[in-house]
Amino acid sequence: MSATVPLAERIRAVVRDDVRAMKAYPVAQAEGLIKLDLMENPFGLPPELRGELARRLAALEVNRYPAPRPAGLMAALRSAMDIPQDAGILLGNGSDELISILAQACARPGAKVLSLAPSFVMYEASARLAQMGFEAVPLRADFSLDLNALLEAIAAHAPALVYLAYPNNPTGNLYPRSAIEAVADAAPGLVIVDEAYQPFALDTFMPAAGRIDNLVVMRTLSKSGLAGARLGYLAAKPEWIEQFDKVRPPFNVNVLTQCYVEFVLEHRDVLDRQAALLRRERDQLYRALGELGGVTVFPSAGNFLLFRIKSTDPDAASRVFQGLKQHKVLIKDLSRVHPLLANCLRVTVSFPEENAAFLEALGASLPGGAEAVGSES
Ligand code: PMP
Repeated sequence: MSATVPLAERIRAVVRDDVRAMKAYPVAQAEGLIKLDLMENPFGLPPELRGELARRLAALEVNRYPAPRPAGLMAALRSAMDIPQDAGILLGNGSDELISILAQACARPGAKVLSLAPSFVMYEASARLAQMGFEAVPLRADFSLDLNALLEAIAAHAPALVYLAYPNNPTGNLYPRSAIEAVADAAPGLVIVDEAYQPFALDTFMPAAGRIDNLVVMRTLSKSGLAGARLGYLAAKPEWIEQFDKVRPPFNVNVLTQCYVEFVLEHRDVLDRQAALLRRERDQLYRALGELGGVTVFPSAGNFLLFRIKSTDPDAASRVFQGLKQHKVLIKDLSRVHPLLANCLRVTVSFPEENAAFLEALGASLPGGAEAVGSES
């Protein structure tokens, strides 16, 4: 095309129609706000560990490419996370990248991804980007799993990939283990149990990774204080890993992350203590929200809580969200994401001071204002 062709026209001619119609993944501006929107761990590395870590990072050969399959890091993960000896491991630049790799590897013409709704948005986004079909089975109104509907959808669509977030984001619940086993039994393709929130749920399918032919257990360190380092991993039969490894960009996990994660895994007790504190805080915040008039809070096995503003006004939750922001607290407004999430908001659990600030801001932002706090209306 000649240089006189307008840029917009060139873009139309080159970029896929569906990509041009997409919106980029929204991340809220959080400057100056208490950040309770993305399920990050609020704790940093303890100061006494930072000096040693800095020395190790400074000694890295950043002029060299990273190891494509870092044996030391994989061994450390296997031992720290109880990954069975007979399972293979695939590392990703966050589990987001693993989800894309699976889609790319399985995107045969007509192939489908199946999940539940509402659930983590990247299952659908990755399927669409890879030009796979995507189907979602709605959860029940109380967010429980309709196993029969899921089994019917598996029979109808024969999905290449079935994603089950365990516990689910954004609803926080775990499905019955027997249901997940039934899904793995029935599915013709892979079943990915996404255990992003495992440190807060403690329950896991990891012992079955490498044992059940079509089971993949996927995790991330993002919720354990390493969201910025970007490391996701999955465990499955080595024969699957061999295939997916061909799709993985060769140097996808950088040297700084490899070193950082190996160091942190040597101090696994720090991660465990932080997760234990957040589990206690979650349970306390759950009780406090339950005592607030004006909201319904849902039980959660993650480091977040989903709650609904009791109101017939469909904009009530969005107004509460804005009210919280005015009080310098950022959470996530899910009220327009899915019909089952009408008037729902999600808050990430933090340390006591931030949770208290959230509760106070919420009390002041609820319809009826601060008087709603403590009342059982
Ligand atoms: N799975 C689930 C269920 C999630 O909620 C998230 C992040 N919100 C991810 C995967 C992706 O995590 P990351 O890319 O940071 O590893």
